[in-house]
Amino acid sequence: MSTIEVAGAQVDTRHWINGQRVASSETFTNTSPIDGTFLGEISRGGQAEADAAVAAAKAAFPAWAALGPKGRGEILHRIADLVEANLETLAQLETMDNGSLLRSHRRGVMPRVAMNIRFFADWAINELHHEVFETRGHSNNISWDPSGVAALITPWNAPLMLATWKIGPALAAGDTVVLKPAEWTPLSASYFADLTKQAGLPDGVFNVIQGYGREIGAALVANPDLARISFTGSVPTAKVIARAAADNLTPVSFELGGKSPCIVLEDADLDLAATLAVEQYDNAGQVCLSGTRILVHENIADAFAERFREKASQIKQGDPRDESTDIGPQIHQVHFDRVKGFVDRANAEGQNIVMGGEPNEELGGLYFKPTLVKNPTPGSEIVTSEVFGPVLCMQTFTSDEEAIAMANGTEFGLAAILVSGNRERADRVAKQLVAGTIWVNCFFVRDLKAPFGGSKKSGIGREGGTWSFDFYADVKNTVVSPTGWKE
Ligand code: ADP
Repeated sequence: MSTIEVAGAQVDTRHWINGQRVASSETFTNTSPIDGTFLGEISRGGQAEADAAVAAAKAAFPAWAALGPKGRGEILHRIADLVEANLETLAQLETMDNGSLLRSHRRGVMPRVAMNIRFFADWAINELHHEVFETRGHSNNISWDPSGVAALITPWNAPLMLATWKIGPALAAGDTVVLKPAEWTPLSASYFADLTKQAGLPDGVFNVIQGYGREIGAALVANPDLARISFTGSVPTAKVIARAAADNLTPVSFELGGKSPCIVLEDADLDLAATLAVEQYDNAGQVCLSGTRILVHENIADAFAERFREKASQIKQGDPRDESTDIGPQIHQVHFDRVKGFVDRANAEGQNIVMGGEPNEELGGLYFKPTLVKNPTPGSEIVTSEVFGPVLCMQTFTSDEEAIAMANGTEFGLAAILVSGNRERADRVAKQLVAGTIWVNCFFVRDLKAPFGGSKKSGIGREGGTWSFDFYADVKNTVVSPTGWKE
């Protein structure tokens, strides 16, 4: 069987290499986190499939590069049209595969998938100006050239959304692509491959390979024919990929984890602060940007905690296909056990778990209750490690300086949320926070024009607008002398 039916859609379980479906002799099992439903057996590739995909992408590169931004843009817009035409199917498929809310996939995530592709196609056409300036009569002609084959390795928490943050700019820049989706969520990438074919994307320009990270993923990133490696995932895996990339000096872009602070200053609007803090449970905590360390000024801590409790008690956990559900399950048994392990160890250490702290017995399966740890011991595991589940810590501070020191006191620097009623104070504090994105009195507002990425161990490089093209393109300067011309 090479296709499976999921949520009414036919999804191919094989790789997509050079415009063809290719099977592997081995497979891995894919189940739904919603209720453990068996979804299918997926091709489990290795060295041969990774090599074949890179070879196909390499062969397709010259013609794709030669099309130019406008020619590529036409095809990319057709892909986006097809994403929109298949929005409901993609939303259902992704929900079955990764357990995130169907309503978010319908209203937010899948429309953004189409937008990601359109945005970068248009940015390549309209915004990457071929700048010219003079140096002692010589002209500097700066251009953004395609660079070659880009390997894109993506995680499971927002599969197609995060993949298209990379696919969009890579293809728009004129690179060809080999995408390796996470093994826990292989389906939307496979379905998307069919849409690229329908849109008329030439064979080999976009390839999808399936399998385990340590097998086909490792084979992919070690390939010497790659021009770029873009990875979103965990810090330990990033280190492994960086070592492989070092052998070939392949440039890397990494978007990694976080342990972001959500800082509530003394002058904050408490209702807004509590709303923003409770939002950090979204997607059952499986969001790299989550502000999982709530830092509250001591003088308002009790009042804040009360509002937080009120709002958090209204979170409805359940089947992510149900419109009224706020948070669903963890992605996989392995991940569920990892999250539970963090909470169990915090419990054993005597940390003060004031909410949740256990699996949701009523729902069973992979549902873990929204959990709050109050005043954890500074430096303890629960307050320094990324849990990637519905587990928040709450700590207090007595001055802005202490809040800044606590906020910056981890190895991560992906994002920070700051809640304050005073612009000047917020501005002063925000300037001292070390993170790629600071949200002041808001969360998750993301413009594709803006730079996105992490400081410290949260990443290398930035994605978004021109920053994406800085990475995927080969930026070139042609310096032309005023002399030596015969005509
Ligand atoms: P998680 O986000 O679950 O902590 P990872 O960071 O390991 O996991 O996974 C993110 C992506 O990286 C997945 O697509 C996974 O298959 C891939 N991956 C894991 N190990 C490797 C590796 N050694 N080389 C390349 N890709 C890998």
